[in-house]
Amino acid sequence: MDPKRVPVPTGTLAPDGTTNAYLLGREQALLVDPAARTDDLDRAVTDCAVEHVLVTHAHPDHVGAVAHYADACDATVWARAGREDRFERATGISPDRTFREGTPIGPATVMETPGHAPDHVALVAGDAVLTGDLVVSEGSVVVGADEGDIRAYLTSLRRLYARNPARLYPGHGPVIDHPRATVERLIRHRLDREAKVLAAVRGGATELDGVLDSAYDKDLSGVRDLARSTVAAHLQKLWVEGKVAWDGERAEPRHPFARGDEP
Ligand SMILES: [Zn+2]
Repeated sequence: MDPKRVPVPTGTLAPDGTTNAYLLGREQALLVDPAARTDDLDRAVTDCAVEHVLVTHAHPDHVGAVAHYADACDATVWARAGREDRFERATGISPDRTFREGTPIGPATVMETPGHAPDHVALVAGDAVLTGDLVVSEGSVVVGADEGDIRAYLTSLRRLYARNPARLYPGHGPVIDHPRATVERLIRHRLDREAKVLAAVRGGATELDGVLDSAYDKDLSGVRDLARSTVAAHLQKLWVEGKVAWDGERAEPRHPFARGDEP
């Protein structure tokens, strides 16, 4: 059975200002990302026997009605093992149980997909995957400093590509019928951006704003803070990989074999 998608308004930065809540299964149903209480979601929930409530990650635009529906449905509340405090801070309630990679919950199985957020997971149900903010059909998701991790994000995308599901059900926007094309597009987007960031540093940009201006050739008004945190996350990745020196404020080019541990 296909997951039921119920967009709810959340004031998120996503283009239409909504987050997708999902219901999965009819019996022992799973409610994912109940981001706000709405009449539509109330109706969808009463059609199903919701036994489990969880979020793909505890960002503010995914958690707004977790406490409400957990109580209304008398459902088991789940959180990522080791991230219970974060979950509780975001939702106002403590989880009943915790999950990890491979944990079965109702009709789905957990797949850990960190990157956009450290606690991020996807839910696999047959040939469908509920992806949260791992993918989006158009544009890209934010993977920015401090908590975004581009290395982890790319690994999560590659794992999703390898799994080759038939359809993706993202946290924002429409269902994705061509998962591999979308995942490839998102990977290419990150690597293109990374190449621009590296070229900016090699071209002499040292301050974050200078790297930002060289790496983006579009008008950033309104999204400059997000773009800056994205560039910082790329510099962090390049630093981990030994390609630039980066102390959180200044970047400098570094020869890829400058670590001294190569032959
Ligand atoms: Zn998010």
